[in-house]
This record gives sequence, C-alpha cells and structure tokens, in this order.
Amino acid sequence: MQTLYQEGMLRDNALAGKVAIVTGGGTGLGKAMATYFLRLGAKVAITSRKLEVLEKTAEELRQATGGEVLPLACDVRHYEEVAAMHQQVLKHFGKVDILVNNAAGNFISPTERVHPKGFSTVMNIVLQGTYNCSYEIGRHWIAEKQAGAMLNIVATFAWTGSGYVVPSACAKAGVLTLTKSLAVEWAKYNIRCNAIAPGYFPTKGMTDRLFPENIRQELDPLKNIPAKRAGNEQEIANLAAYLVSDYAAYITGEVVTLDGGAVLKDGTMNALDLVPSSMWEAIEMMVRQANKKQ
Ligand code: NAP
Repeated sequence: MQTLYQEGMLRDNALAGKVAIVTGGGTGLGKAMATYFLRLGAKVAITSRKLEVLEKTAEELRQATGGEVLPLACDVRHYEEVAAMHQQVLKHFGKVDILVNNAAGNFISPTERVHPKGFSTVMNIVLQGTYNCSYEIGRHWIAEKQAGAMLNIVATFAWTGSGYVVPSACAKAGVLTLTKSLAVEWAKYNIRCNAIAPGYFPTKGMTDRLFPENIRQELDPLKNIPAKRAGNEQEIANLAAYLVSDYAAYITGEVVTLDGGAVLKDGTMNALDLVPSSMWEAIEMMVRQANKKQ
C-alpha cells in the first residue's frame, strides 16, 4: 500500500504555464523531480551528457504524464554548451521559469588516493556547472525583467564536511554559499534561490558510486538514519515542486534537509573509516566499472 509521502502533494496544475530546466534530469532524483513537475503541468527540459539516456527518459515521461519534455545534451562543465542548451530551450518553449541544478558527480575514496584531476572533475561538474547554469539563466531573467526560481541540490556534508567524499563536500559547500549569496543579491530581480540537502535516496547513480556491493556488506547505510528508512523519490519531488512554485514566493536563501534526521546522527561518509585500507583498490575498481557501464 502506498503511504502518503509516496503521493503527489501539490494541487493539480500547480506548475501550469511554467517551463523548467532540470540538469541531470535523465536519471535518479532529477528524473523524479522532472516527472512530478510534468504531472503538475510544467513543460520540462531535461539535460545531461548522455542524449540516449535523456531521449529514453523523455519518451517514458511523455507516456507517463502526457506532458511536454525536451531532452538536450549538455555538459554543465562547459559554459558554451550551457548557453547553447539555454538557447534551444528558449527556441522550443519560449521561456524558462525554473532552473534545477541537480547534475553532479561523486565517488568515495580516501583523499590521499584522489588525484587533483579527480578533485577538479567533481568541482567542475558540481560547483562550476551550477555557476554556469545560474549565470546563463539568471542574467537572462534579469535582462528580460522576468521572475525566476532556482533550486540547487546539495548534500548535508555541505556544512558538516565529510571524509571520503572531499571533492563533493567542497563543491556542495560552494553551491550552498552560491545559493545564499544569489538569494540576497538577486531578490531585487524577483529571482529566488533555494536548496535541498537530501540524505539517503538509493538511486542507481548514488548506489553505484557511494555504496557499491562490497561497501554495503561492511556498512549498513540505514544504521545512522534515525527514521530507519531511505528517502522516497516522491518526497524530494514534492519538496522541489513546492520550492520552485509560487506557493513558496516568500522563501529564498533556504536549504531544506530531507534526510530522516541522519545529519544529526553523523549521516556523513565518515563511517568509511571502518573500511580496511586493503579494500580500497577493489572498491575503486567496482566504482570505475559501474561508471563505465552507464
Ligand atoms: P544520478 O542519477 O547519478 O544523477 C546525476 C546526474 O548528473 C546524471 O543524470 C548525470 O547524467 C548528470 N551529470 C553528471 N555529470 C554531468 C555533467 N558534466 N553535465 C551534465 N550532467 C551531468 O544520481 P542522483 O542520486 O539522482 O543525484 C542527483 C543529485 O542529488 C546530485 O546533485 C547528488 O549530489 C544529490 N544527492 C543525492 C543523494 C542520494 O542519496 N541519491 C544524496 C545527497 C545528494 P549523465 O551521466 O548523462 O551526464
């Protein structure tokens, strides 16, 4: 039986007339948010690097929701690609009202094994990518005197820090600061910037990179979650839809934690201290294999 948190929360057509861009919208939480935005009447552009994945998701979402979905390849690390993607959305839908900066890369590793190239890859996707999209769409809103809503997907280690995911923790901390800074600076343009910090939502991307098989045998991801369960994708979709909707018109600069209390009970990746150093070679191989298969 479905529980209440697995159901849509907002009224029908709550996002009717809105156009949203969801980065990383072809999979996982991005796909879940895009799906619900469509159900609520928005038109949605989903973007990421893999067009094939996006096209498959777009067709699935059209069938499931009857909504208008535009799949566009765009690597958020490259500003020219972001600008081109934005132009294509404007050409197709005529405008953008909502930007969800959800695309990310992450992997677990003791920091002494993270080459500076690995650090900059994650920083470039998460922090530079979020800036590229925010700059491109934000300056357009300002020029057009159009209101807009941005939503950044961060993580609770953005403010606690965490071992074993240092590039991601540093990048998400930057995104959190960007969220709060722009919320103040761009409020005069009627642009709102908020963030969600999800806890444990076992998407495929997250499971492959942060909890590969051999880690799950050693560490139970539910152990440090007071609610004793994983998050459900509809829970993040509900919160996201609310924060980007006009119902949240007075909320800006906020980060909402959605983690069943985990951050209060060390919901970081520091528990990986328990993994013996001899295991890291095998873990790294497993994460690399999973990345290759995607
Ligand atoms: P996911 O399915 O792996 O989503 C990541 C998305 O980012 C993918 O669609 C990927 O698509 C896209 N992406 C990666 N590099 C990109 C690039 N350079 N340019 C454009 N798109 C890129 O994982 P998820 O769990 O749904 O994560 C979604 C968001 O939630 C992320 O910001 C993550 O940090 C955050 N989060 C998740 C959890 C969780 O428990 N799931 C917890 C905390 C925070 P391509 O490979 O096609 O580019």
